[in-house]
Amino acid sequence: MLFRVIDKNEIEALVRGFATSYEVVGPVKRGESYVFDEIGCDPSRLCVDYTTTLLPPKKYLLPPREVLFKFSTAQNSVQDFEQEIVPRVLFGLHACDINAINRLDKVYIDDEYDDPYYHKIRENTLIVGISCMPSEHCFCNVWGTDEVTQGYDLFLHDIGDRYLVSILSVRAAEVLTISTSAREASVQDSVDFQTRNAKFRSAFPSANNISELPMLMDAFYNDALWEELGERCLSCAACSVVCPTCHCFNIKDILSPNGEEGTRVRVWDSCCSPDFAAVAHGHNFRATAASRVRNRFYHKFLGYPSKHGDVLCTGCGRCEVACKATINPRVVIDGLQQDAIAQRNSAIDKGVARG
Ligand code: SF4
Ligand code: SF4
Repeated sequence: MLFRVIDKNEIEALVRGFATSYEVVGPVKRGESYVFDEIGCDPSRLCVDYTTTLLPPKKYLLPPREVLFKFSTAQNSVQDFEQEIVPRVLFGLHACDINAINRLDKVYIDDEYDDPYYHKIRENTLIVGISCMPSEHCFCNVWGTDEVTQGYDLFLHDIGDRYLVSILSVRAAEVLTISTSAREASVQDSVDFQTRNAKFRSAFPSANNISELPMLMDAFYNDALWEELGERCLSCAACSVVCPTCHCFNIKDILSPNGEEGTRVRVWDSCCSPDFAAVAHGHNFRATAASRVRNRFYHKFLGYPSKHGDVLCTGCGRCEVACKATINPRVVIDGLQQDAIAQRNSAIDKGVARG
C-alpha cells in the first residue's frame, strides 16, 4: 500500500479528475438526510462530512431491477442481454460500506458460481473511501468493520486540513497524480493520522463482546426471543432494503401481452417478505414472521460466516433507523446474551438447591 497526502481543498480537483472518465457518485444532502447520487462535474454537491446515507451504495452494483436476458416463446429462443456498463466511481464511501461491498463480492464473484452481471459492473467500478465519525446508530466497532484494508482504490483519511490517501490501484493513483499535488507523507502526517484514529475509536460506546455469538446462535435456535421479535415484526422488508449486505433477489419473467416474447429480470427481494419462501402448491417454508426474522439473523451471524468467515453485518446502523419494530442486530445480540445469562443463573440456582 502506498500513501500520499493532499490538501483538503484539492478534493474538488480530484472529483473533476475522475469525472473526465467516470460517472461520479457520492453522498449529497437531501432534506435532513444524505443519499448517494450522481454528482456529475459539480463537486460542490458532495458532502464529505456526512453521517450515514439512507440507502447504501449497493444499488450501483446490484440494480433493484436488472434485465438478465430476453426470450421468444414464438421462436423458442433466448437472446443474451448486453447491459450497458457505465464506468463509475463510488466516491466518499465509509469503511463500513466498503466492507459491505467486500462481502457482496464474496457472494457474486466466485470461481464456481460467478455472477457475470455483478462481476462486470464491479470491474468497472472504482471506490474512493473517506474516514468518518460514528453516529449514535453506528456499531461497526463491534465487528471490526470500522476500518477497511481492501476493496477500495483510494481511501482519504482526514488529518485536519489534509487527507492522508491510501492507494490500492494504479488507475486511481494516476487520477490522483494528474489532478492534485499529491506529496509523500511526512512524520507529522503520520502523527496526525494516529491522533485522529485515537479520537475516532474513543467516539464509540463500549462494544458488545461477540466472541460467543456463534455458540449462542447455535444453542438458542428455539429461544423465545424469536417468537417475541416475530410478534413485533411488520414483515415490511425495510431492514433488507436499507442493508448494505442484504442481497436476496427474485427472478421474474415479464411476458408481452400476446405472450410471444418476454424478459427475464432480477429484482430485489427480502427474506423478511411473507412469500419469500413460498413454493409451488402453496407451501411456505417460513410462514411465520418469527421464522423469517430468525432466518435473517441466522444467515447474517452463522450461515454466511460459516462459508465466508465474516458476519453479514457491518454495523452501519441503517436498520436501527428503518425498523419501526425496533428489531436490529444489537437487540438480537443483547437478547441472546441476556437469555444465556438467565439460563446460566437458573442452572446455578438449581445446583445450589440440590447441593
Ligand atoms: S425486522 Fe423491522 S424492518 Fe425488518 S421486516 Fe420486520 S418490521 Fe420490517
Ligand atoms: S444488519 Fe443493519 S446494521 Fe447490519 S449491515 Fe445491515 S443495515 Fe447495517
